[in-house]
Amino acid sequence: MTLTLTEETPPEDFERLTFARDEASGLAAYICIHSTLCGPAAGGCRMWNYASRAEAREDVLRLARGMTAKTALAGLGLGGGKSVIIGDPRTDKSPTLLRAFGTAVEHLRGRYFTAEDVGISPEDMAIVAQETAYAVGLEGGTTGSGDPSPFTAEGVFRCLKVGAEAAFGNADLAGRRVLVQGLGHVGMALAQKLHAAGASLIVADLNETACGEARARFDAEVCAVSDIMDVPMDIFAPCALGGVLTREAAGMIPARLICGAANNQLAEDAVADVLNARGVRYLPDYVVNAGGIISVASEIHGAGDAYRQARLGDIERRMRDILAMAETTGETTTAVARALVDRILSERRRTLSEVTA
Ligand code: NAD
Repeated sequence: MTLTLTEETPPEDFERLTFARDEASGLAAYICIHSTLCGPAAGGCRMWNYASRAEAREDVLRLARGMTAKTALAGLGLGGGKSVIIGDPRTDKSPTLLRAFGTAVEHLRGRYFTAEDVGISPEDMAIVAQETAYAVGLEGGTTGSGDPSPFTAEGVFRCLKVGAEAAFGNADLAGRRVLVQGLGHVGMALAQKLHAAGASLIVADLNETACGEARARFDAEVCAVSDIMDVPMDIFAPCALGGVLTREAAGMIPARLICGAANNQLAEDAVADVLNARGVRYLPDYVVNAGGIISVASEIHGAGDAYRQARLGDIERRMRDILAMAETTGETTTAVARALVDRILSERRRTLSEVTA
């Protein structure tokens, strides 16, 4: 292993940005710690075929910041961080690369916990864990929480019903047309729950095999990935990558409700206003998709399933409160959620400054 770690200067409100390179295994990865205000940073590791190192850097910064909001709001005693490995998970991933990544995580001495995200499976995380004590989402053992995706899907599903009640006056999903974009670990599990609830599914994924599976298992209608904004639907569930909701998409999407697992769904903050003006209810991603980090937190804290279940219930209640506040004030759900996060973080700052004074 020829691992080198280079500290880069992150934007002002970030704590740390490390670039990890290992020539021997081909590892090129960013590990970003946005905030440890509420506890050690936690956030998944994404492996993606980024077009450039700059694109990977931008993604890790955005994702790490989102994790701070997500962990603070969910009250997990954790901060926000994320890592991205540059490369195609189907062709560039190897045990030596994953071990080199694990060594890089270990160098941060517990200021950052990693877990699964897009392109990284529980089997991969087990290899990462050979080199670091700070890899979670592991299978087995007494506290292993396993793949966080089923918990993410469960949280999204519950919020989707809360959102349906607000948008349609009825949480019953029977007969509702729901478009699921992305049929990976979370999207497929969500599709299964929606099918079981009687929803009529439309699916889109770059992976034709996944689409074929959804067609066979859930009688889903398959739509081309480029056509998702043109299909008649009641609910849009983005479960692929970020940035799907551009201004243009927000101005035309036929759905009355948007609720999905993907991180950073809004291409820019102003998109929330466009959706609000059109009466489309958007459920903020970092509120809705906290099930995975809750599962990971249960492992970090050595807590069990009761911890996870209680906090999954909290996601649903929080989403209901946010929708009610937005309804009362006329603000967007994103503005309401952001204000809650800011309040939690400033209270934490105040508590810490009182302790150190
Ligand atoms: P995954 O890698 O298992 O699945 C992603 C799927 O999206 C793949 O099937 C891929 O082919 C598809 N995809 C990519 N680009 C697409 C496009 N343009 N159109 C249609 N499909 C496309 O990832 P996952 O773990 O299911 O995560 C999905 C999203 O949810 C990601 O944004 C992730 O960050 C977020 N998320 C996941 C978790 C979790 O527990 N896994 C937790 C919180 C948030």
